[in-house]
Amino acid sequence: MVFIHKEGKFNDNSFLIDGFLFGASRSLALYVVENEGTRMLIDTSTADQAKGIIKKLKMYQIYPIHKILLTHAHWDHTAGVNELKALMPEVDIEVLASENAIDNLKEPAAMNDVFEAIVEPIEEVTPLKEGDIIDLNGLKLEVFNFFGHTMDSIALFDEKNRNIFTGDAIMNKSGYTYVQPTFMPPEFNESELLKTFQKLRDMKGKLNSITLAHFGVWTDADFETILDEMEEFHFKTKNAIIQWYNKNLSSREIALKYFKTFIPNSKMVEYGLLDDLEMNIKWLIEGLKLSGFI
Ligand SMILES: [Zn+2]
Repeated sequence: MVFIHKEGKFNDNSFLIDGFLFGASRSLALYVVENEGTRMLIDTSTADQAKGIIKKLKMYQIYPIHKILLTHAHWDHTAGVNELKALMPEVDIEVLASENAIDNLKEPAAMNDVFEAIVEPIEEVTPLKEGDIIDLNGLKLEVFNFFGHTMDSIALFDEKNRNIFTGDAIMNKSGYTYVQPTFMPPEFNESELLKTFQKLRDMKGKLNSITLAHFGVWTDADFETILDEMEEFHFKTKNAIIQWYNKNLSSREIALKYFKTFIPNSKMVEYGLLDDLEMNIKWLIEGLKLSGFI
């Protein structure tokens, strides 16, 4: 098994916790990196999941958390920050994010508008820039700008465990049957995304695994497949959606086309999840509109 989707410890220092976005299993992964008693949570899911997340942290004996790192300012990664902090009152939790995320976190109106989300402002965030090192008692995590999906997306490189946490910067791959590209509103930038793909390919020799927010840890051959396919997948899905959109197909029709073309073995339609797929397609179309492709 080279795709790790089960909760719990998956390398010497890292744990996967299911963030139950929309109450659904395996829709958003949170990660905890621990070294010598210091723990950092990566991303938060939404506020309604905070109590469940605390329960899981206790179950895996990784409670409390000392730092929360936000991979970018999209609502599904940030909306639980204040609730989680309130539920761990004994710790003064440091929140960290890209220096480019600080304004979006303080004033989430633009992000909220486009996703119809309600995220409270997040204050007092430590700004990170490329090359910064987060030191967890000697375990060093290096910050990389992985822009494109948003202009505040960062990745964290764990050299010791040969792993990289990439948030949403590369792609969504939830199991072997569901894949989704990254061109989300309101900040998608293709030339930055292509730079990010190249950065990741350049790091290949130092990595055995990639952890995606949506969803899970992909190792060995599966890790290499993601690196081999990510760029072509981006262009294929982008061009297809542009073509369908220009034929005046409705978002429902585009969702069905996407299903048949890119994820024919997923159970989305069989399980009646076409509404969820259509919601994602609408966001992808909005991402293409705001970045000037349609
Ligand atoms: Zn995102």
